[in-house]
Formats: sequence, structure tokens, C-alpha cells
Amino acid sequence: MDYKNMNPESLMMSHGYKPELSEGAIKCPIFQTSTFVFKNAEEGKAFFEVAYGIREKEKEEELGLIYSRLNNPDLEILENRLCLWDKAEDCAVFESGMSAISTAMMEFLKPGDLILCGRPLYGGTDHFVNHFLEKMGIHSIGFNSDMSKDEIIKLVKESGHKLAMIHIETPANPTNALFDIEMCSDIAKELSSQEEKVIVSVDNTYMGPLWQHPLEHGADIVLYSATKYIGGHSDVIAGACLGSKELIGRIKGLRTFLGNMAGPWTGWLLMRSLETLKVRMDQQAENAKYVAEFLKQHPKVEKVYYLGFIEDDNDPIKTALYKKQYKAAGAMIAFDVKGGEKEAFKFLNSLKLIKLAVSLGSTESLAEHPATMTHVDIEADVRKRLSITDKLVRLSVGVENSKDIIWDVEQALEAI
Ligand SMILES: *Cc1c(COP(=O)(O)O)cnc(C)c1O
Repeated sequence: MDYKNMNPESLMMSHGYKPELSEGAIKCPIFQTSTFVFKNAEEGKAFFEVAYGIREKEKEEELGLIYSRLNNPDLEILENRLCLWDKAEDCAVFESGMSAISTAMMEFLKPGDLILCGRPLYGGTDHFVNHFLEKMGIHSIGFNSDMSKDEIIKLVKESGHKLAMIHIETPANPTNALFDIEMCSDIAKELSSQEEKVIVSVDNTYMGPLWQHPLEHGADIVLYSATKYIGGHSDVIAGACLGSKELIGRIKGLRTFLGNMAGPWTGWLLMRSLETLKVRMDQQAENAKYVAEFLKQHPKVEKVYYLGFIEDDNDPIKTALYKKQYKAAGAMIAFDVKGGEKEAFKFLNSLKLIKLAVSLGSTESLAEHPATMTHVDIEADVRKRLSITDKLVRLSVGVENSKDIIWDVEQALEAI
């Protein structure tokens, strides 16, 4: 065993940081600085040559620090640490999940191209695709988790446009529908041309970076709202994009000119969060299992959407996909209360420990009503097809004692 083979959770406290460069400080300081002093003019020239691609980096040469829109130690060390979880070559962090997603899409799409999107998508992503990209002359079509490879390829061919990107979220929010990443990668290969490769991007916010590793299944890039599990404390907005050196290099290039990189303070906060990422997520997944089991047997609950129950559906294809793609069932649960909006609201308004708020993946448990909150933007008929009804409640399970979470869920159900 050597350092390189250690598990990511063992390396989150130290990887990529050299105390001797920071007065021996055990923790990486916040490099709250906009610019960096060059030793001499020759060094400044050399750094710029590499940063602007005027020449390739020499073998042992590292990209020198120039200016915090291009690079900053808090970002670089954070990016190196994030790479370990997804076994990615490179990573770019952003000031929000939306800036990671929108920058990646703008880098890989141009007017006339087609983007194929899994349905449903995060509301912000959906809006960006259907309004901003649309305005830029980029076409989009959606596909559902139950469509086969042939049906999807037919859909693309019938559109008459040139496919450039496939973007999915799996499991889909909030009902945990599964998309097959490997199948998307096969579709991308089939529809790629010699000159232009179709990019497969996976928004892994719901399951990453612990429970699903899309790059292993053929995705080209992985996207995160680091606001969720990675940040994990509901106190920072951030995003990340990971993949090969080549693709992330392109994204970092655009990030430099859009100027939507994360600042040093955000980088520092996320490094602090990463130290406890595994223990937090493990505890959240374990708590979610108990909460889901409690909900399932409760007379006021009609249906529970939780990945841990996937085998109950007796669908061998879905079960095989679950086993292939996921390392755990995660900590997101949705459920239908018996009744409708009135009953769902009564439940939400009666919670005492669990907070009524959107967002997810944080240390505290959160509950919300997708139909009138996170998914209100989706057309009513699409919402219905996706089972996002008035009786649906979404829970993000936190790190509290599971007995206390269950007590709260029980008393709020009783209040209905
Ligand atoms: C929250 C979220 C986003 C957007 O991230 P921000 O950090 O809020 O910009 C994107 N995708 C998913 C799945 C999310 O949950």
C-alpha cells in the first residue's frame, strides 16, 4: 500500500497542501489575495506562456500563480482533493452549481447544435437550456428514464439536428427515476463523428461524490452543485466540474473569461467540508434507511420513493441498473401522503426538528413540497407524468439521531 492507493477520506486533510510553503500551518490558510508577486520578470513571462497556451508545460513545471481569476491555492488544492473521489484527471470549481453547469454547456455547444436532456432536470438547468441556450440557437429535446436506446436515437434523428451533448441527472429529482449512464455513453459514441465527439455530462449532485461515479460508466464530465453534499452545512453556494485534463482544460479556459470561479473563502470552506464528507454521507444514508422503512409502514403514507426499495418493484432491469451504478441508496426520500396539497402542507407545517426548506445534502434534515416549490416551473402534464403530484413530499435526511428524525416525521404525520 502506498499513499496513492489510500482512500479519499484518508487524504482529505492533507492532499495537495505543503505546510512548509505556509509557515508550517497545519491547515491551508485562506489565500485572500487577488494577485501574486513574481520572483522576476522571466518567471512572470513563463507563467503567462503556460496560462495562455503559448507553449506546453515542461515536464516538471507547475502552473505558476498569477491572478486569482486564473488560479489560487485554495482552489487548486480543493480541485486536487475533489479529483480523488471521482478518480478524475482534473476539476474546475465554480461559485455555484449553476455556473459549473452553464459554463460546461456553453463550452461544448454552439448555435445549431442539439442537446439531449434527461427529464426531469434541476429547475435552474431546465431554465438555462430552454431559455438561454434556446436564444443562442441551440436546440434541445428531452427523454424519459423508461426510453430505450433505439427510441432515443430515433428521437435525435427525427429532430434533424446535430447532437453535441447529452445531459442527465440520475437518480432524477425528486422521484429517484434511474438513467443508464453507460447507455447514454453508447448513444454518444454512435452519434459522434470523426470531427466532433458527443459529450455526456452527468449532474451527480444527488449521489456524489460517494455513492455514484459517472466517469467509471462512460460519462465525459461530472457536474456538482457543491452547495449540497460536498459543502454539506447549508452555508456556502459552490459548484464543480470534473473529467479529463483535456475537457476540464477547455472549461477552465472559459471560466477564466467568464470570471465565475469560486473565491478563496469558498475554496477554504469546501476543503473544511471535505474532511468530514464520508462520515456525514455514511450517517445520512444510514439514517435515510430507517426513515424510509418507517414511512413505508405508516398508514398515512401512500408510497415511498427511495432507492433502497428498488428491488420491491420486481423490475430486473431497474434492479440490475441500480446495482451497477450505485454504491448506496443515498439519503433522499420522497413520499406521497394520503390526500393532496392540504395534507402535505399540514405535514410540512407540523415539523419541529426538520426544517421546511429547499436544497439538500446538508447536516440538517430538510423537507419541501416539489409540486409548489422546486418543480413548480415544470408544465402540469409533465409533472403528472413524473409523479410530482400535490401529495408528494421530499425529504433530505441529515446527520441527526435517526430516532429523533423519525419522532418528528411521526408527530407531523399524526397532525394530518
Ligand atoms: C442545487 C442543484 C443545482 C444548482 O446548484 P447551485 O449551487 O444552487 O447553483 C444543480 N443541480 C442539482 C441537481 C441541484 O440539486
